Amino acid sequence: MTTDTATAEAGRDFIRDIVQADLSSHKHGRIVTRFPPEPNGYLHIGHAKSIALNFGIAQEFGGQCNLRFDDTNPTREEQEYIDSIQADVHWLGYDWGKNLFYASDYFERLYDWAEGLIKAGYAYVDDQSQEQIRTSRGTLTEPGKNSPFRDRSVDENLDLFCRMKAGEFPNGTRVLRAKIDMASGNINLRDPVLYRILHAHHPRTGDKWSIYPSYDYAHGQSDAIEGITHSICTLEFEDHRPLYEWLLDKLPVPSKPRQYEMARLNLTYTLLSKRVLTQLVRDGHVSGWDDPRMPTIAGLKRRGVPPAAVREFIKRIGVAKANSVVDVGMLEFCIREELNRTALRRMAVLRPLKVVIENYPEGQVEELEAINHPDNPEAGSRKIAFGRELYIEQDDFMENPPKKFFRLSPGNEVRLRYAYFIKCTSVVKNDAGEIVELRCTYDPATKGGNAPDGRKVKATMHWLSAAQSKPAEIRVYSQLFANPSPDAGNFAADLNPQSLEVLTDARVEPAIAEGNSPDAMQFERQGYFVRDKDSTPDKLVFNRTIGLRDTFAKEVGGKG
Ligand code: ATP
Ligand code: MG
Repeated sequence: MTTDTATAEAGRDFIRDIVQADLSSHKHGRIVTRFPPEPNGYLHIGHAKSIALNFGIAQEFGGQCNLRFDDTNPTREEQEYIDSIQADVHWLGYDWGKNLFYASDYFERLYDWAEGLIKAGYAYVDDQSQEQIRTSRGTLTEPGKNSPFRDRSVDENLDLFCRMKAGEFPNGTRVLRAKIDMASGNINLRDPVLYRILHAHHPRTGDKWSIYPSYDYAHGQSDAIEGITHSICTLEFEDHRPLYEWLLDKLPVPSKPRQYEMARLNLTYTLLSKRVLTQLVRDGHVSGWDDPRMPTIAGLKRRGVPPAAVREFIKRIGVAKANSVVDVGMLEFCIREELNRTALRRMAVLRPLKVVIENYPEGQVEELEAINHPDNPEAGSRKIAFGRELYIEQDDFMENPPKKFFRLSPGNEVRLRYAYFIKCTSVVKNDAGEIVELRCTYDPATKGGNAPDGRKVKATMHWLSAAQSKPAEIRVYSQLFANPSPDAGNFAADLNPQSLEVLTDARVEPAIAEGNSPDAMQFERQGYFVRDKDSTPDKLVFNRTIGLRDTFAKEVGGKG
């Protein structure tokens, strides 16, 4: 794993150092950052890194962070995404207050400024097709070729641009380009497109516009309008910075933001591209954007991941200038650590096996005390019912156990957590020879789980009363991709066919069934689980957030 733990541990990173220096030198009296999502999909954990950085810096340095929707491409944008993005930023624990903006708020001003560029000889209308523009742009080693329309007069450019705006021309027939340098070593400076014709309905501006600004044109100017001091983006925009600065330099903008680039978050076994995530949803590989296997914020939330675990993860990985891939085990480690601290303990039997305690009186029910959290007495306790008929986990019993198997087997004594010692006396099988029931005896003197004569047992098992427990469906998830570095180009081939196992016969204790907490609980010896929104009064559904096993903690030397 390659992470910038050195900077993370210091609680500092190169961007915070720059911000601190700019405040100390009075270059800025107050800092303003922004998180600028395109509303064309749900947010994922990579966005969480950007959110935590932008909002975190504003919080730490007493500044402001805007939420700005970069809504310049109406063909892919939807209100559903705008709503989900706001919900997800709040869920992560951040707030923009009154500072909610849309790039579309600035369309009028951006248009006026584009006219200004034309008048100053810095922009022209190009009639070439998209394909012609692409091929004449050149390559990394060859310069581009000037467009035959590059030297149009200012008047002709103004007239055409105005008519583009008025909706006179079909999609794709003309663009407005900046007039910079077709031979520039930086391809982004080879007369980049500023406006394209798009007859599309916009969620906010309706049918008012037939032309829409490009990302490069809209983004920096929106930053300038909002007085952003530090415009943080990911590394792939490093080569766009000269264009960002060229535009700020040529336009009468009210402020001059500076762009800083950081590494994007990549995770093993995970793809964080909106294109791929959209396709996973559209092609039905997952149940939706909030499928608990998705790396989206909505998916993490539905899976029962606490927002504090995501924040801790982002803090631990730090902010680096070089791209790297973070082991998904690091995220899982943070989830376990947070849930181990906070999750209430409960008992559930995922794959039940019936147990009849032959020497326990029929019809008798006892209420036993069970604690809710071993390290937090304030979490209190609850009662669980014990009776003659119980369920234990199928794999806690073996008829012919190997040497090291200490759980239940014929003749072997074990402890039922919070209850009694029991011993298996015989096994009941069906016609197919499968074990369907165990006959056991209990020792009434071991109530509470300890023998007065001091004898020991080697295993303590979870269990539930057959009569008092409730049926449930439990969805056990593992990685969506089987390949540690899935191929974004052909991701279907890398999908894990076993990423979801549905257990339909599970049993849960009444405290689980009755509770309606949005927080994950620990099902003892099994992992962390959270109630799913698919639950109905007749059918409870739980998602496994994560198992208890903590192999990753050993690797990184954390605590288990
Ligand atoms: P994708 O590449 O997944 O389609 P995007 O970058 O186009 O995502 P935006 O909505 O434009 O998505 O992203 C909003 C902000 O989140 C941008 O500032 C972008 O740099 C940042 N961001 C997106 N993905 C990551 C990532 N994996 N790690 C860190 N920041 C990210
Ligand atoms: Mg983007």
